Amino acid sequence: MNQVLNYIGGEDMAPSTGRFIEKTDPRTGAALCQVADSGKPEMDAAVAAATAALPAWRAMRPAERGRILVEIGRAVRESVATLGSLESIETGKPGREMPQLMALVAQYFEFYGGIVNTMDGELINAGPDYHIYTRRDPFGVIGVILPWNAPLHQAARAIAPALATGNVVVAKPSEFTSGSLVAFARLAESVGLPPGVLNVVVGSGPVLGPAMAEHRDVRKISFTGSTRAGRELGRLAADRMLPLTLELGGKSANIVFADADLDAAARGCTTAFTWNGGQWCAAGTRLLVQSSVHDAFVDKLLGAVAGVRVGADHDATYGPMTTRAQFDKVQQSFDTARRLGLVPAAGGRLARVRGGEGGWYIEPTVYLGVTNDMEIAREEIFGPVLCVIRFDDEADAVRIANDSDYGLAAGIWSRDIGRVHRVAGALEAGRIVVNEYSGGFVQTPCGGFKQSGYGREQGVEALAHYTQLKSVIIRL
Ligand code: NAD
Repeated sequence: MNQVLNYIGGEDMAPSTGRFIEKTDPRTGAALCQVADSGKPEMDAAVAAATAALPAWRAMRPAERGRILVEIGRAVRESVATLGSLESIETGKPGREMPQLMALVAQYFEFYGGIVNTMDGELINAGPDYHIYTRRDPFGVIGVILPWNAPLHQAARAIAPALATGNVVVAKPSEFTSGSLVAFARLAESVGLPPGVLNVVVGSGPVLGPAMAEHRDVRKISFTGSTRAGRELGRLAADRMLPLTLELGGKSANIVFADADLDAAARGCTTAFTWNGGQWCAAGTRLLVQSSVHDAFVDKLLGAVAGVRVGADHDATYGPMTTRAQFDKVQQSFDTARRLGLVPAAGGRLARVRGGEGGWYIEPTVYLGVTNDMEIAREEIFGPVLCVIRFDDEADAVRIANDSDYGLAAGIWSRDIGRVHRVAGALEAGRIVVNEYSGGFVQTPCGGFKQSGYGREQGVEALAHYTQLKSVIIRL
């Protein structure tokens, strides 16, 4: 992986700029590879290749498209070692997570390959003089812009439903994690995906994002990334009435009621903010704890956090921050906390990691006594930093949880089934998980309320977001 090039129409393409972005190994801070710093010509070439591949892919029987997607799933399962190791190298994620993550990638292709025909039109009865029906047509060329935190997972969940519904794709991975998607595109072609149906353009977002959004042949964009970049893309899209699915940031509340299994909650709430070092859009980083059990619960929580091991090795709980900017951002949050008079109950500093000298490691960090109006409780940090906030009763918990610009996910820990349903109904978030905090199912729709975005990925629902509805009204 010395150089990562574009993959367009089934062929490598060097950047017309002649420039490359230096990619650093997050585990060690050493140079890792060079990534093409592509420009508008490569985006234009990718859209042209996709446009050329569209008629045949769109006309293919859905069952045949589905068969190819299922084959891609099988190929991913057979390539866990290579794809997983590429993703682990680029992100710094511990190798032990890769089999499970790659299995999820495969599942998207198996799932959408299996349900290609599930969402279709309907017959509308307007009396004997008419035959009216609706049909779902693909958009055509779909742009997919991706982040670096779970690169192939985010790619698969957008690309699989887009292809299943007869669209073709131009994908723009993060400049920090492009190699795995190029390898994936090659793999997909090796098992039958026609060249040009999936193209990968690598380079920087501020250049390639506008080049994609302004191209008249791109008919929809699925964007996963920060609220800041999503907003910029939204402004450009408005000029062309370009439909978007926006999967953006979060500051998700995880609510522990006094009646919860506090041991299970302490373990689950620890995973919720430390998985992938907190570099997870749905991370539960605002921990709301009922006052009556606050102190007892915090003891258990700190015990669980003490068991977290940051490392450069295969079995670590989590690895480094994937980018230098992210590493800096987490440290800035420590400064913010200090300015607010907060003292960390755990962490609050860089982690020393054997074999990872020069890498970007942060200890799991817990702040107690946070109030929801503090900057640290309002801004997404995207690192292993937990804010613990007290609440008195159910109404108080819902009020605090909803008092956020974001609304991506939320957790509820309680054994009171009535309360669980009441609170799940009242929370303003796209995904509520009860008595655990992972819930990573390909069949479950995923997306945000408020500034966490709009549209939905995953599940049968995603098929609606990759098609446009047409009514056909026939006078008999
Ligand atoms: P980012 O917004 O910096 O980058 C995401 C992608 O957008 C990259 O490919 C980048 O090159 C591109 N980009 C940057 N500026 C752009 C612009 N002006 N126009 C178009 N594209 C642009 O985000 P990141 O740092 O890669 O990822 C972290 C963020 O992603 C966090 O906010 C996280 O919450 C969010 N995220 C959300 C989800 C979700 O499902 N809601 C999943 C993963 C990550």
